[in-house]
Amino acid sequence: MSAHSASPDRRRFTSEELGFDPEVLRAKYRTERDRRLRPDGAAQYRRAVAEFGYAAADPYTERAERAAVGDRVEAVVVGGGFGGLLTGARLREAGVADIRMVDEAGDFGGTWYWNRYPGIHCDIESYEYLPLLEEVGYVPKWRYAPGEEIRQHAVAIAKHYDLYRDTLFHTRVTELRWDDEAAEWQVRTDRGDDFQARYVVVSSGTLTQPKLPGIPGIETFRGHTFHTSRWDYGYTGGTADGGLHKLADKKVGVVGTGATGIQVIPHLGRDAQHLYVFQRTPSSVDMRDNRPTDPQWTASLKPGWQRERMENFLTVVTGGHAEHDLVGDGWTSTARLQRKMLPGDVETGLSAEDREYVDEIADFRKMNQIRARAEEIVQDPATAELLKPWYRYMCKRPTFSDLYLQTFNRPNVTLVDTADFGGITRMTENAVVVGDAEYEVDCVVFATGFEAGISGVVSGTLPVYGRDGIPLLQAWSQGPRILHGFYSHGFPNLFHLGALQNTAAVNFVHILQEQATHIGEVVTAARKHGARRIEPSVVAEDAWIATIRANARDNYAFQAECTPGYYNNEGKPRPVSNSYGPGPVAFHDLLRRWRADGGINDVLVDA
Ligand code: NDP
Repeated sequence: MSAHSASPDRRRFTSEELGFDPEVLRAKYRTERDRRLRPDGAAQYRRAVAEFGYAAADPYTERAERAAVGDRVEAVVVGGGFGGLLTGARLREAGVADIRMVDEAGDFGGTWYWNRYPGIHCDIESYEYLPLLEEVGYVPKWRYAPGEEIRQHAVAIAKHYDLYRDTLFHTRVTELRWDDEAAEWQVRTDRGDDFQARYVVVSSGTLTQPKLPGIPGIETFRGHTFHTSRWDYGYTGGTADGGLHKLADKKVGVVGTGATGIQVIPHLGRDAQHLYVFQRTPSSVDMRDNRPTDPQWTASLKPGWQRERMENFLTVVTGGHAEHDLVGDGWTSTARLQRKMLPGDVETGLSAEDREYVDEIADFRKMNQIRARAEEIVQDPATAELLKPWYRYMCKRPTFSDLYLQTFNRPNVTLVDTADFGGITRMTENAVVVGDAEYEVDCVVFATGFEAGISGVVSGTLPVYGRDGIPLLQAWSQGPRILHGFYSHGFPNLFHLGALQNTAAVNFVHILQEQATHIGEVVTAARKHGARRIEPSVVAEDAWIATIRANARDNYAFQAECTPGYYNNEGKPRPVSNSYGPGPVAFHDLLRRWRADGGINDVLVDA
């Protein structure tokens, strides 16, 4: 049967036609998931606080003493990552003169400030990941940019838009309190600052706080340890480009084989005397094919090229229709594989059940390729087998590397599978123990990821008090109420960035850019009309929540089948996503229409 012939009553492919048996794969995926499910779920991790606080300290910039500020600014932006920088840039373009950027880090860059581990690169193509390239006048040197180039670009954006002028680094905002009379926010910080701001933008990120595994005995280990997001080059030597020469006489253990582990492990494998990779779940590792930017291509770029490329990537990876795939990499080819199996436009012709069937078959094919790749590259068959991922493609962040699997062919690298034990069994003064086997190490590197969604207003780490002193979380006691994911009734002039009641995509910087543009336009309108407050009505909030619910995508079944990880709350998925179901392309369109149709006027108050 041709993949294009059946619609809408699809006949199912036979195992002979497919070359594999879907039932066998489904059963294998379930068995592998069940081996890894832990009753303690997300509670298995330890927060990098108190005795483990060292794991979150800033190793890059010394904290300078400074006097507390008690002045007034027009806008304060909480978070100096790309979300904050993009909003700062758009507010500057909107004519806002006094912008104060605040961040817990010692400089701009957000995740690219903190993460400087060897091998760090962005896994999204740099030409659509690094924002404001045309505005700043820069073309990345590599197709997939190293972390330092991305961090430098963040700094360049801050300089270009004059955002350094009034910054408070190494500063955490501890309270936002609305002053209705002044129509301003009172902002307090952990450095004793207490100042007023007309507008507050919260862009505090999602994966911000490093987490450590709750391994019994972790505190008894006397060797050296650190988290990948606080790399200790003093101990390892070298730089983000590698050359970790101080590890030449060290036995090193690394815990974690997610998107970070995949980038770090080739360097540790090359430079350590011996490397033990403690793996619980293998990642899918596809080809990378990084290369320097072709100067002829750069010379051919026409104004508007970046927007076009970003839109094209977003459309292709979210399954939409695009004439050409301008990027043509691992992300887009996987999405195209899924589309190729569909008999027409994604939106038409197929029942939900048929659509899911087609998706699943395409997924099996992709993952079979990924598993075959491990078998081709890794010489020892038993090791190759352990490196094969048995779950659907998007259960975990897909990874790309032309060095990772090859590392397991080195004689000084040992893969230690921990899946049967739910992870590492325990640590002693000088060793990592898995089952009964003890591995003596000098150093353990934790590539164990971050607490998801704990920063900012939703988790309560940043308390917000709106009109009449009402706490934000009280106003949201029946669930978040955020018109288009930006603002809430009772909390005027406060903007949120993030996926909640908004949208998400693998290139999250694109989402942030659209959010920043929207905020910039709303503030521009408020200034033009002399509105003191930007605030949606309860009616508008209700309507938006109803829209989100009516269009909600129920990912529960998919997530529940997935191997545990932070994507599915460690095997305990939440029922329904609280983002706009039809996806980012449709959402951005909706926002543009809302602005063009005068929707902005509905959120301007006291004009
Ligand atoms: P992850 O949460 O993806 O991975 C953590 C790893 O630690 C997993 O392999 C996990 O195993 C393992 N682990 C945790 N506890 C134990 C234990 N007790 N014993 C053994 N292993 C354990 O973190 P990452 O830092 O790799 O990635 C986080 C996110 O950061 C990514 O999903 C991505 O969004 C982003 N990122 C993006 C990059 C980019 O290029 N854009 C690059 C790097 C990261 P298990 O899977 O079994 O839980």
